[in-house]
Amino acid sequence: MISKTWLKGNLHTHTTNSDGDASPEHVSEWYHEHGYDWLCLSDHNHLTVLQGSKTEKAKWPLLVHGEEVTSRQSVGPVHVNGYGITELVEASDSTDIVTAMRENVERIIAAGGMASINHPNFRWAFDDGAMMQVEGYKFMEVFNGHPSTHNDGGGGKTSTAGIWDRLLSNGRKVWGIAVDDSHHYTNEFAADRSNPGRGWVQVKSETFSQDGILTAMSDGDFYASTGVTIGDMVSNTGEIKLEIDPETEADGIQAKYTTLFTGSNGRLLYESTTNSPTYKPTRLDGYVRATVYSSRGTRAWTQPVFIGS
Ligand SMILES: [Zn+2]
Ligand SMILES: [Zn+2]
Repeated sequence: MISKTWLKGNLHTHTTNSDGDASPEHVSEWYHEHGYDWLCLSDHNHLTVLQGSKTEKAKWPLLVHGEEVTSRQSVGPVHVNGYGITELVEASDSTDIVTAMRENVERIIAAGGMASINHPNFRWAFDDGAMMQVEGYKFMEVFNGHPSTHNDGGGGKTSTAGIWDRLLSNGRKVWGIAVDDSHHYTNEFAADRSNPGRGWVQVKSETFSQDGILTAMSDGDFYASTGVTIGDMVSNTGEIKLEIDPETEADGIQAKYTTLFTGSNGRLLYESTTNSPTYKPTRLDGYVRATVYSSRGTRAWTQPVFIGS
């Protein structure tokens, strides 16, 4: 029995088991203290599993097993997160980006997990061209909180949301996640450091368990956020309707929101400036997804609804 409609979690986190600066226990406590229901400790090429007493576990969010399967080629890093894996996955040592990505995805699936392609624009490693040549992954990072991941693209490089739209427009059913990719939990918290609390997902799970959360994520029953809260959401081929929970500042001033509904090839279908943006898909849309922009600079991304497929 769960008391919340949405379960908040971060899917990408590092600890001292790879290049994070705090122990898995410290990191887990940070997320619990900051209102997260669940967390995936995704160390580079290390499966971090915490065995705690009942008292210790009460200080942690629910922990979902994961690993950042990390291939470090000179041509560009290929990092693929595996969620729900039952054993350590060995990273591909191929020097070819597509081969490394393929092998990492295949090995994650063979270990019982679901694969997510991480931060395409980190070191400008690859884009949808490489990702279209790989099958079987469920997710991609539309937002990564590490300061070197270039989510917005630029200079002729496509944003991560643009890469997502190209995959969707080419018939790929991929869900978009927002993650912290946090490394720094001690000393200063600053924009140029890799701190926690920047990107998360809110999952509508039937049960508060790893299986429940991963099943809901596999079905696309979640949204990604960097600060926008959606209270309720209807999302099907007949209607997409969001109820935005407005952020209120100490003096009672409310943030304002703009929601863009986009379809095939990233085409703008409809723009709403209300706190209850609603759109009824048409057969020509291909797919429909919504991005909510807050006047405070934060965003939320809903998962695409596929029309006529
Ligand atoms: Zn990475
Ligand atoms: Zn990482």
